[in-house]
Amino acid sequence: MVAIDGPAGAGKSTIARRLAERLGFTYIDTGAMYRAVAWWALRQNLDPGDMHRMEQLAMAAEITLAPGRIQLNGEDVTAEIREPEVSSGASKVAVIPGVRRAMVAKQRAMGERSSVVMEGRDIGTVVFPHAEVKIFLDAQPNERVRRRFEEGRAKGESISEEELATQIAERDRRDSTRAEAPLTQAPDAVYLDSTGLSIDEVEEAILRIVRARVTNGKEFH
Ligand code: C5P
Repeated sequence: MVAIDGPAGAGKSTIARRLAERLGFTYIDTGAMYRAVAWWALRQNLDPGDMHRMEQLAMAAEITLAPGRIQLNGEDVTAEIREPEVSSGASKVAVIPGVRRAMVAKQRAMGERSSVVMEGRDIGTVVFPHAEVKIFLDAQPNERVRRRFEEGRAKGESISEEELATQIAERDRRDSTRAEAPLTQAPDAVYLDSTGLSIDEVEEAILRIVRARVTNGKEFH
């Protein structure tokens, strides 16, 4: 089990997907799960701050992750959950303890079924506190905004870099200051700043940590 946590735009998804491929593990994007709940709420015109309704939605949500795709209740929502309003909605539903309880239960079930590389905000601290490898992947704020901006531009999004910077800062603030499972580095996680590093370099650095764990004789799955 490899747990990768960190703020938006640090490179978690890209790295986690590649690592999973290299290790033959299943890649689990937990942010996509919170996004799916938020998307469902927005589609029904529900307020993502309505704690009771959001908890009900989270419990009822049937989320299926397949390589590169996510389904909610049998419907493919892969593209829809990347909309900016869903990003901000996700960080609003994610403060609700009942929503987190429902998502954590699903994530633990997935992690128990197979060997996984799981990425999010609370994987090493809450979901799998005994994960064999924990990485806290970070990057400087300007770099994180730049990466998200380039990603959006490639998809033809028109949001300005300033607007994106404001949105990301707001989301990071909400994620780091919430009472339940805030974004924070687990004491036994390895801190890695990906600013100025290529994807290959980050991947190699994490693989070195994984290999060190294996050669230390620790059980790894
Ligand atoms: O990782 P991503 O940016 O797709 O996550 C969207 C939002 O979901 C985050 O801003 C955060 O509020 C929430 N999240 C969370 N815990 C996780 C993963 C994501 O609270 N493990």
